[in-house]
Amino acid sequence: MKKVFCVGELLIDFVAERQGSNLVQATDFTKKAGGAPANVACAIAKLGGRGIFLGCVGNDPFGTFLLDTLKKEGVDISLAQRSKTFTTLAFVSLAEDGERDFVFCRGADKALEYDPNLRKILHGNILHLGAATALLGGSLEKAYGKYLFDALTKEMFISFDPNFRRDLWKDDEDTFIKKCTPFIEKSHLCKFSLEEAQLLSGKKDPNEACDVLHEVGTKIITVTMGSEGTLLSMAGTKKTIPSIEVSPVDTTGAGDAFIGCLLYQISGLGNFDPAFEDFALLENMVAKANVAGAITTTNYGAIVALPTKDQIGI
Ligand code: ATP
Repeated sequence: MKKVFCVGELLIDFVAERQGSNLVQATDFTKKAGGAPANVACAIAKLGGRGIFLGCVGNDPFGTFLLDTLKKEGVDISLAQRSKTFTTLAFVSLAEDGERDFVFCRGADKALEYDPNLRKILHGNILHLGAATALLGGSLEKAYGKYLFDALTKEMFISFDPNFRRDLWKDDEDTFIKKCTPFIEKSHLCKFSLEEAQLLSGKKDPNEACDVLHEVGTKIITVTMGSEGTLLSMAGTKKTIPSIEVSPVDTTGAGDAFIGCLLYQISGLGNFDPAFEDFALLENMVAKANVAGAITTTNYGAIVALPTKDQIGI
């Protein structure tokens, strides 16, 4: 089983208790571990895979809480870094009009330092780049680009999730698109939400969006569409693989559970050609990843709700 190195942010989400209040009104907050690449590492570990988290937290109690959480889930945190800067914090609430109110205090996640010693252990493994905060600058952004380069020279399978957050890129979507392009170009697999596929391609229709994004470079595309299923596009073939029916209570982390489950299955393949083109094989994997995503919506929280192998039937 190959290792899956998940690079990016791990942070505290302070979620306002009372829905319907904005951050001016909110008084009580629940502390939750957050960060898409960290969730992906947890999803892989929970399925019995080798999820390795590569990111930075502060040398403070929040950083300790976050790393303990990952460790409990079975994630390898030996490559995680700690910095003097405080752990990154996000405060979130859902106001009465359904709008998200959001305050972001960016701290240690941006301080991840590139580690050239890693090159030795990367060979033939999988690199997953989750970009919610990585493209916002800091040494993380530099490290991110260097790990992509390492992965290319070490014949790794590269996966990219742009994790577009409107709150973070409000008036600067063009910069986001520009910064994502080299990653879409070099990755073997890209996981987009429908909104991301549309934004990054400039096309409304998901099929046309895939065509544009394949032209940028990536061979395999999944466009996740919540209860509407996942569009898989590869080597000229496209198919929407249906979601399973559930009663969702919290959709946070469904996308991370999806990509985590897909990468877990890919990590179990033998000596794959990084550009493998077996559509039926991938279709079957995406169907299972859809189950992982759906199950995650049936419980609160991104990490707690992640499914086990038995729940998915793999
Ligand atoms: P995230 O909010 O984690 O970034 P995302 O937008 O990347 O999520 P979604 O499309 O919400 O990803 O969910 C990923 C996958 O989880 C979907 O492709 C689907 O298989 C499953 N899923 C999500 N929501 C539902 C739902 N309401 N019913 C059934 N399956 C769902």
